[in-house]
Amino acid sequence: MDLDSHIRRIPDFPKPGILFYDISTLLHNAAAWAAAVERMSGLVADWKPDLVAGIESRGFLFAAPVSIALGTGMVMVRKVGKLPGTVVSHSYDLEYGSDTLQVSDGLVPRGARVVLIDDLIATGGTARATVQLLQKIGAAVAGAAFLIELDGLGGAARMGVEVRRALTYPA
Ligand code: AMP
Repeated sequence: MDLDSHIRRIPDFPKPGILFYDISTLLHNAAAWAAAVERMSGLVADWKPDLVAGIESRGFLFAAPVSIALGTGMVMVRKVGKLPGTVVSHSYDLEYGSDTLQVSDGLVPRGARVVLIDDLIATGGTARATVQLLQKIGAAVAGAAFLIELDGLGGAARMGVEVRRALTYPA
């Protein structure tokens, strides 16, 4: 399956100069979507995770079916204020300002092998903060996998864990 042909390019979104890689068209095509999930599952299977973590919100789309395919549970990594109960937070710097990610406290056993999944890695800021948050709660982060890596931004090198990707595009 040629996954690339199912990913739509939208120039100048969300702001001028950004070429946005839109997975909506991939999700719409039953065969392509199934192939993408199979590809992502294959990328992470040998890490033998106990849990698959997805980053809100497009990461959830991939982490959920991959976790089912691998027979693991799933962890939701969410933007601030979305999770009920006691949470653990991690703030990180953005180009302008900062942002905060949260996970539920007490659901991930210390030492659990967790793999992180998201749709796309650009600078790696979001994914790196997620790795740090998972490590903060005692998880052993086995690696991170992305459908798309934007090359040349140093994102993968910044992660501190092994990174795998299905597709690589120029930034
Ligand atoms: P970053 O923290 O810079 O790695 O940004 C990662 C997040 O921003 C990903 O979860 C993507 O959903 C989104 N993103 C960044 N750049 C793009 C792009 N060119 N096309 C689509 N999504 C993007």
